Amino acid sequence: MTEFLTRAASAGGGSGPAGRAAIGLVFVGPPGAGKGTLAKTLQARAGMRHISPGDLLRQAVRDHTEYGRKALTYMRAGDLVPDEIVDAMIQAALAQAEGGSGWVLDGYPRTPAQAGLLDGFLASRGGTLNAVVYFEIGEDILLRRLTGRRLCPICGAIYHVDYRPPRSAGRCDLDGAELVARRDDAPDTALHRFRVYRAQTAPLIDHYRRRGLLLSVNAERPAEELYDMIWGSVRSRPATPLP
Ligand code: ADP
Repeated sequence: MTEFLTRAASAGGGSGPAGRAAIGLVFVGPPGAGKGTLAKTLQARAGMRHISPGDLLRQAVRDHTEYGRKALTYMRAGDLVPDEIVDAMIQAALAQAEGGSGWVLDGYPRTPAQAGLLDGFLASRGGTLNAVVYFEIGEDILLRRLTGRRLCPICGAIYHVDYRPPRSAGRCDLDGAELVARRDDAPDTALHRFRVYRAQTAPLIDHYRRRGLLLSVNAERPAEELYDMIWGSVRSRPATPLP
């Protein structure tokens, strides 16, 4: 944490509409760590653009686009979708977010190759990365979180049957739609996703720690506490220059 604050404080960044610097955040952590819930809160309260490759891919599947058709087999198996699909989607979303208050990348990059591409893309557009928030959490808790997770298919709101139940069982608080479980949250696929995370994504943590960008948070803490901690740490921090 100290390392992150010292490094981040010593650099410059671009300006957003609110007069403060636009903030670029990456969320890294295993499936079920709560990245999506926190990113949605940052979007609602701080005006940050929530960019989730998982949500974009699920939308592409629902829309029957070519990307969606190609991605579906990988997603069902809990494997990563090929870079050429994900990179294109993320770059389009980042370009759209330019000129705003900032963005939260929730689930990208997930491999060293994606991290390299992100650096190159941000450098070419004058974008900035202020911090990489690492959601630390035990795997036993994750499996419980994933198997009880429910989503609203209309607005994307995230619930949990025990930890974050909707007001009326099985229905979204915001639009009344019937909640669904994600097929890849079934125990076998979830365990495979943990393996993919450990092999392909976990190495990014050291990469970003070495660059002084890592902000580790205890993802077992309540979401409200995590929000205060993350937003309190990053909101006035200028960006670190790209390597
Ligand atoms: P979680 O973080 O809970 O695994 P996501 O909604 O972020 O869930 O991702 C769901 C699926 O979408 C992944 O299992 C993978 O197939 C695909 N996906 C998401 N992000 C990426 C990425 N950066 N690169 C490749 N595939 C991705």
